[in-house]
Amino acid sequence: MAINSKTPIIIAGPCSAESYEQVIATAKALSECTKITAFRSGVWKPRSRPGTFEGAGDVALQWLKEVKAKYNFPIAIEVATPEHVETALKNDIDILWIGARTTSNPFSVQELASALKGANCQVMVKNPVNPDLELWIGAIERVMKAGCMDVTAIHRGFYPYEQTPYRNIPKWEIPIELKTRFPEIPIICDPSHIAGERALVAEVSQYALNLNFDGLIIESHIDPDKALSDARQQLTPENLIKLLRSLEFRTDQEEVSISQLENLRHQIDSIDSQILELLSQRMNATMKIGRYKSKHNIAAFQLKRWKNIIRSRIETGSTLGLDPEFVKKMLQSVHKESIRVQNEVMKKSKH
Ligand code: PEP
Ligand code: MN
Repeated sequence: MAINSKTPIIIAGPCSAESYEQVIATAKALSECTKITAFRSGVWKPRSRPGTFEGAGDVALQWLKEVKAKYNFPIAIEVATPEHVETALKNDIDILWIGARTTSNPFSVQELASALKGANCQVMVKNPVNPDLELWIGAIERVMKAGCMDVTAIHRGFYPYEQTPYRNIPKWEIPIELKTRFPEIPIICDPSHIAGERALVAEVSQYALNLNFDGLIIESHIDPDKALSDARQQLTPENLIKLLRSLEFRTDQEEVSISQLENLRHQIDSIDSQILELLSQRMNATMKIGRYKSKHNIAAFQLKRWKNIIRSRIETGSTLGLDPEFVKKMLQSVHKESIRVQNEVMKKSKH
């Protein structure tokens, strides 16, 4: 059985293969759901710090072979080195994916692409850790140039340099732009690594389906709280199956394919929510400034500072192609609100 983009691609399985029992029990439970089209599992895990669980390694490939034989699932694993590719291909792995950290490094991607030459397998390319669409496209192109034309992109979100409700910020406008430029490349969403929390996986999954993604790759573990990696975001097979039942899938993708206008609107929605998050952070900083000023008896409005803000923001704005009058009006409105908030803070600290 191969995955294809005519029916939704649903890949499920644990973050890491940890033991024979964990892999088989998870696969058995997931095999109850016909929506699931492939089984995922990390065999070699890229971890931030050494000394943490780095995957069970080669022995896990035997467990996965058993999953394939018993439950008829195509098997997907992550590869990060040419040796991984070679070992995976020798062990009949059906789908190889390139992880976010690897996609970030064109040297590594090229080494993987060279190792993939002549292999007739499906390859999935996760987005790089940074929101760099060209780097993502570059990795896909390297794999295709090696002759692997069956490529699927995985959107797993981007490292958040600011606070967000998610582990990785989705920046939906980036996968939308990928889809716009390469409509023939299927793209699936990894809501587990975006959400980082099991309670948020459903909303991210539905959002991706609303954007007409071709499917999902979701982490599931037979006993998530005891998982050796990504424990917080993994779902029990039972909860994953419930989640899949609750999602609204688009039934007739070709006829109802999203128009360009809708795509652009979704880009705007995603950007607006990022603007609002940043504005809320700005207001929090404003409140702290208000408290400081109040304590030290400094006036809320400071002409010199305000003039500096206007001048520097207009300058930055014009390098970004923004009209100076627009930047000025927007800042006046934000500044007015900042002064109001500081005034409130000062009133409160007086009583
Ligand atoms: C994973 O899928 O478990 C994984 C390591 O993901 P990413 O490369 O997106 O961090
Ligand atoms: Mn994981």
